[in-house]
Amino acid sequence: MTTPAAVSKLNTDLFIDGQWVPARSGATFDVVNPATEEVLAVVADGAAADATAALDAAVAVQAEWAATAPRERGEILRRAFELITERADEIASIMTAEMGKPLAEAKGEVAYGAEFFRWFSEEAVRISGDQLLAPDGKTRYFVQRQPVGPCVLVTPWNFPLAMGTRKIGPAVAAGCTMVFKPAELTPLTSLALVEILAEAGLPDGVLNVVNTTDPGEVVTAWMTDPRARKVSFTGSTPVGKHLLKQAADNVMRTSMELGGNAPFLVFDDADLDVAIGGAMAAKMRNMGEACVAANRIYVQSGVAEEFSNRLAEKMGALTVGDGATEGVGVGPLIEQKALDKVVQLVDDAVEGGAEVKVGGDRPAGDGFFYNPTVLSNVSSESDLMSTEIFGPVAAVVPFDTEEEAIALANATPFGLAGYLFTTDLNRAFRVSDAMEVGMVGLNTGIVSNPAAPFGGIKQSGLGREGGSEGIDEFLEVKLIAMPQP
Ligand code: NAD
Repeated sequence: MTTPAAVSKLNTDLFIDGQWVPARSGATFDVVNPATEEVLAVVADGAAADATAALDAAVAVQAEWAATAPRERGEILRRAFELITERADEIASIMTAEMGKPLAEAKGEVAYGAEFFRWFSEEAVRISGDQLLAPDGKTRYFVQRQPVGPCVLVTPWNFPLAMGTRKIGPAVAAGCTMVFKPAELTPLTSLALVEILAEAGLPDGVLNVVNTTDPGEVVTAWMTDPRARKVSFTGSTPVGKHLLKQAADNVMRTSMELGGNAPFLVFDDADLDVAIGGAMAAKMRNMGEACVAANRIYVQSGVAEEFSNRLAEKMGALTVGDGATEGVGVGPLIEQKALDKVVQLVDDAVEGGAEVKVGGDRPAGDGFFYNPTVLSNVSSESDLMSTEIFGPVAAVVPFDTEEEAIALANATPFGLAGYLFTTDLNRAFRVSDAMEVGMVGLNTGIVSNPAAPFGGIKQSGLGREGGSEGIDEFLEVKLIAMPQP
């Protein structure tokens, strides 16, 4: 393997108060390429003392940063958007090397991730307030919005750029300072992002980054410090619940983008070409390692067999391999543990009576690869239906009636995304309304856009990222009351 030039160039220390510094302990950890299992880079491994130094820096500049002109903050984001766009190939090569997704998808994420900065550069200058008169006419009230204060940002490995820009964009626009802990499996893209933000003019101390192999220690140092005023987390529901409990003791604001278990409903009046295209996008994007990935595919009995066969044909035609290689459509899973989980889920489902239409195994050799797999007639009782698969495995279950489809879709504690394919307009709205999710893909497998509010209900989270809602997560309402003369 050749390490991408963009990886070799990266500064891999901690970034605190505008300086690259090693961990106080001198500790480091290896970042592994999941396609080759070789070490890509060695990164500073922070601990509680480093975390506190990072928060000290964020607290020290909070008041000054909050007082900057919104236009200035917006223009920093705009410059960073342009720099990311100019360096899209470099950033994509880093992302593919550390996370595994094919280069074309990595470039797609770079464009999507950068777009959060462009969107929030425009939102920075649109923070508005309100003004009202008391009903008795004796007091005037001014309602203003102010930055919430120093924020704790914690992100997952599956979208190494976009999960960061989706939080950093609105925090910068709102005037918040930040301590940021990227996922330990994919810290390199975030380091490239920090360099770009510094180059774009983000003042020292506004964004501080601590990578670590002990997220519990680093994040707890922040969550138990009353100077941190908000936590914005994207990751699994169990870790989200743990952070919500920690936030309660400090009465911190929280934004939680947690796990999903997306239902994907195909009715027999659907345009099957559209439904298959939607399933490929909702299942195979990111090798299935997405919180909004179609996890349970319910297809009305009349078209279930045809749907499964056609999906199997499409998925079986994809090339599995190192995402850096031209023409590869499916990269490796993130790590051995993830691969073991997918192997076990598929094996269990097959033992429970599922039929393998394609795949069901892994290719020989190094790397955490799993072949694109379609299973039909999966039992509703199978673990595959209640667990986030996070792999290139499509589980198809037939249903008969609309009521049954809605009941199946909602039979989960999660409520992030759901998908619905039908050409009947009344059914489209009836079922969309009934689905217990934060986002519905109606005849589409892609729901996310920086201009639209992204987020879940039930155990999939609290709050929204992107859209005009995204910046509100980083703002507090302040009331000023003034008696009328
Ligand atoms: P994870 O919860 O294991 O890790 C997420 C982050 O939390 C990482 O940075 C990790 O280091 C950190 N973390 C782990 N333990 C911690 C602790 N005790 N205290 C503080 N921080 C801790 O999740 P993951 O495996 O990185 O990501 C996959 C999960 O993320 C899936 O469940 C997926 O659905 C979810 N996800 C959700 C969204 C969304 O927008 N809703 C987007 C992407 C991923």
